Amino acid sequence: MFDNLSQGLEKAWDMVRRDGELTADNIKAPMREIRRALLEADVSLPIVRQFVASVEAAALGVKVVKGVRPDQQLVKVVNDELIKLMGGQQEDLVDPKDGPQVILMAGLQGVGKTTACGKLALALQKRNKKVLMVATDIYRPAAIEQLVTLGQRVNVPVFEMGTDAKPADIAAAGLAKAKAEGYDAIIVDTAGRLQIDERMMRELGDVRAAVQPTDTLLVVDAMTGQEAAGLVKAFNDAAELTGAILTKMDGDSRGGAALSVKAVSGKPIKFVGTGEKLEALEPFYPDRTASRILGMGDVLSLVEKAEASIKEDEAEALAQRLLAAKFDFNDFLKQYKMVSGMGSMGSIMKMLPGMSAITDKQLGAAEKQFKQFEAMINSMTAEERSNPDLLAKTASRRRRIARGSGHRELDVTSMLGTFTQMRARMQSLSQMLKAGGAAGAPG
Ligand code: GDP
Repeated sequence: MFDNLSQGLEKAWDMVRRDGELTADNIKAPMREIRRALLEADVSLPIVRQFVASVEAAALGVKVVKGVRPDQQLVKVVNDELIKLMGGQQEDLVDPKDGPQVILMAGLQGVGKTTACGKLALALQKRNKKVLMVATDIYRPAAIEQLVTLGQRVNVPVFEMGTDAKPADIAAAGLAKAKAEGYDAIIVDTAGRLQIDERMMRELGDVRAAVQPTDTLLVVDAMTGQEAAGLVKAFNDAAELTGAILTKMDGDSRGGAALSVKAVSGKPIKFVGTGEKLEALEPFYPDRTASRILGMGDVLSLVEKAEASIKEDEAEALAQRLLAAKFDFNDFLKQYKMVSGMGSMGSIMKMLPGMSAITDKQLGAAEKQFKQFEAMINSMTAEERSNPDLLAKTASRRRRIARGSGHRELDVTSMLGTFTQMRARMQSLSQMLKAGGAAGAPG
């Protein structure tokens, strides 16, 4: 799995220069290689296009980091974008507060759906849940038998009503039993067809309506490539999926489905099947999968460390500037301009120890206030800016500044009060930074 993709991407890294920075010009060739590698992994063209565009944008936006080469930087960018493509976080099953967890399993025939039921039953048992499986495939008696056999292997009872009842009725009866007998989870296996089939989809929708699942999982064979898009869409339309299980990840598939499911459906892959044994089910981790594809764990941690140390350097430099300056109005304005120039105040403020709890609303208000401050400071003389105490002493100066900046004298006095508090706060903050690094002193 992923072998060809990994090799294809390796070619891309080789094309990146080893010094200088990533530019629109010098990433063209490696980007072409990345695109080719993804297409060969059977990812569909629209997804590939979008992926390549976001890698390109991110690559051109990265700052040159000391000790990190451009090719390594590109590896990191591709890693981050792969993680995003696959959904970011690992997503677990939905665990309802009351009532049993109801997991509806959907998928085409032969993809490993019934096996996945057994695997999930085992996994939930390991979470100390009392599990019931429900067989609704009335078209294939063998499928019911298969589920019963799996149930015996993992010691989970299977509810079935033979082949004469309607799937939705069987599912509803199974759920009623689970509720009456205190089961924590039920897993409903459904009929699969070789191809998407209207009747099967309608039935699936009926079963879904009958049991209101907490999770509806589409079981997808990892061999699926581009056709994953149509498949996921059809099932999602019929039964509103909450996620997917990708089976046969142990095979030698090209990996297209693993990369596509989230992008085409917006629904995460929650688990992967990695073998025929019932233990062979694992949560799907986008980050681990990305580093498996890239096979460059050491490069990634190098770049991460370098980037983290830059953030520390920035915070440290900010603290130094705060402390070194007397913190007059000039410093204040400079800080503000620097900070706002870097995007939002928030990212800097939140980096400071003790400030991480500050809310976006508070930040918004602070930024608005800074704007008023800026107008007032712009109306000051050079002397006043470097000596804030002059304003405290002389009312005529405050009046002049109020007029000049379109505020009331009261506003200027209030600004002075805030400024004085801010100065004290900034200075003690920087003391804390100096004393404890980023140890997280309370704010
Ligand atoms: P269903 O028709 O979707 O219910 O498919 P089954 O559960 O009967 O599985 C079809 C075949 O795929 C069986 O031979 C399973 O042993 C096999 N299978 C299921 N999951 C996996 C997996 O994760 N890895 C491998 N290698 N085989 C699997």
